[in-house]
Amino acid sequence: MSDHTPDLIPLVDLRAQYESIRPDIDSAIGRVLQHTGFILGQEVQRFEKAFANYTGVKEAAGVASGTAALHLALIAAGVGDGDEVITTPLTFFATGEAISVVGARPIFVDVKPNTFNLNPDLVEQAMTKRTRAIIPVHLYGQPADMAPIMAIARRHGLVVIEDAAQAHGSEYQGRRCGGIGDLGCFSFYPGKNLGAYGDAGMVTGNSPDMMEMIRSLSNHGRLTKYEHSRVGWGYRLDSLQAAILAAKLPHLDDWTERRRALARRYSEHFKGCDGLGLPYESSDVKHVYHVYAVRSRQRDALSEHLREKNIQTVVHYPVPLHLQPAYRGLGYEPGVFPVAERTARETLSLPLYPEMTERQQDRVIEAVLQFVHS
Ligand SMILES: *Cc1c(COP(=O)(O)O)cnc(C)c1O
Repeated sequence: MSDHTPDLIPLVDLRAQYESIRPDIDSAIGRVLQHTGFILGQEVQRFEKAFANYTGVKEAAGVASGTAALHLALIAAGVGDGDEVITTPLTFFATGEAISVVGARPIFVDVKPNTFNLNPDLVEQAMTKRTRAIIPVHLYGQPADMAPIMAIARRHGLVVIEDAAQAHGSEYQGRRCGGIGDLGCFSFYPGKNLGAYGDAGMVTGNSPDMMEMIRSLSNHGRLTKYEHSRVGWGYRLDSLQAAILAAKLPHLDDWTERRRALARRYSEHFKGCDGLGLPYESSDVKHVYHVYAVRSRQRDALSEHLREKNIQTVVHYPVPLHLQPAYRGLGYEPGVFPVAERTARETLSLPLYPEMTERQQDRVIEAVLQFVHS
């Protein structure tokens, strides 16, 4: 029996989640197929209201993806040609991409060694006359240090757009991420903490003017069916995804608690392990563990060891944005952001999803401890 391969432990298991709420999902999909209101309409409005309420903002505008959310948020914030936007290099490429596509230039700032989020102490020295906005990213579901970021932005008249694509329901000093800055951008990519069955996204905010502009731009700048007041995009949230997301939202807090319990369990078992860096959570935040990432100087060997045990891992993210081939033109050299670069070399995301059983997690824990103690 010793050469028998154990079952795969996947990084995430979307099928297990579907099985756990199948009647809710099937009836939401069935309802849309029956009323055939596939574009906009009540399904989208209902989910927008529910998500605005959940996040603690006045308004939420459904859009086609998290990337579309960032793109439209930047335009609504008035960011365009020749402007500069400060953000973190340790994020998914879309954060930088949205800045570039509106004609602005991403200005990267290194991250904090404990949270891997934008280091507020380095923001002011990166500012110029052209700086218009800051995009903090709540990486892995861990809130960025919003109080000093908001204070700097207010002092200099900058807009703050939170990239909350990984942070549904996370909290900073008692407030939900996505409702702290001027605008918040969410992704409902299937693997996110609140995931659609396709692409979907949302912008959250409290400014009626900016939110009206985002709604309009996402729907071809429409005034009425055949009148267009501006040139926009076809960036709408589709009704099937909205109905699915509305059915899932009531489960999100339970899923988050389960993620947090599993994360605590990992950390209890790994505490004190030589050479293994664990996630940090300060007392004034609620981390929602979109990702449970450890750090190791032998990251690639650890990943290979787990792969041999049929345990899936992934690296978020091996190449920081300032060193991406697409950004060669920005002129950043390796070594300029030592914390982000070291994190990119050492971080490894372990399997974590609400439906993961303790038995499955025990296999991951055992395999990691075996590697650490070998
Ligand atoms: C997923 C993600 C995005 C992009 O969202 P999509 O819905 O895939 O377009 C942007 N920023 C971060 C940090 C993300 O994790």
